[in-house]
Amino acid sequence: MSEDCIFCQIVNKKIPAFRIYEDERSLAIADINPVTEGHVLVLPKNHAATLMELTPGDIAAVHQASQKVAQALMKSLKPGGIAVLQLNGAAAGQVVMHYHIHLIPRNPPKDNIKFLNWEIKPGDMKAIEKTAAKIKEAF
Ligand code: 5GP
Ligand code: ZN
Repeated sequence: MSEDCIFCQIVNKKIPAFRIYEDERSLAIADINPVTEGHVLVLPKNHAATLMELTPGDIAAVHQASQKVAQALMKSLKPGGIAVLQLNGAAAGQVVMHYHIHLIPRNPPKDNIKFLNWEIKPGDMKAIEKTAAKIKEAF
């Protein structure tokens, strides 16, 4: 529990939320600024800011809970698909510093969401190889 964390306060029922699913380690809530109808956030009950700090047990629990919620979204709202989005760090666009997975039901072209419209262009293979080697060295 982190005192000033809004999601910890939701977990502990200090502030309200539309709770959709919960188990011992995970909680799924309706996003109050839904990008599309049925936008859900799935979070660990234990505080961890990002993927890099999450414990292996909580990673497993939150992703298993996300699968259950995604199945319920497909059954109840019947979207064309579900985008899974997870941001780490302010530079990546993370606003609430308590790990969470966004489940965003998609119905293109009706929903007209722009967040996945990056340009696909071939990379420089030498640069890709060099970067891959640099990452590998960090394990
Ligand atoms: P982030 O950019 O950190 O990945 O996304 C944070 C998400 O949390 C946003 O989609 C935002 O709408 C949602 N959010 C922020 N405050 C609250 C809140 O008090 N309750 C709920 N249910 N969602 C929130
Ligand atoms: Zn927290």
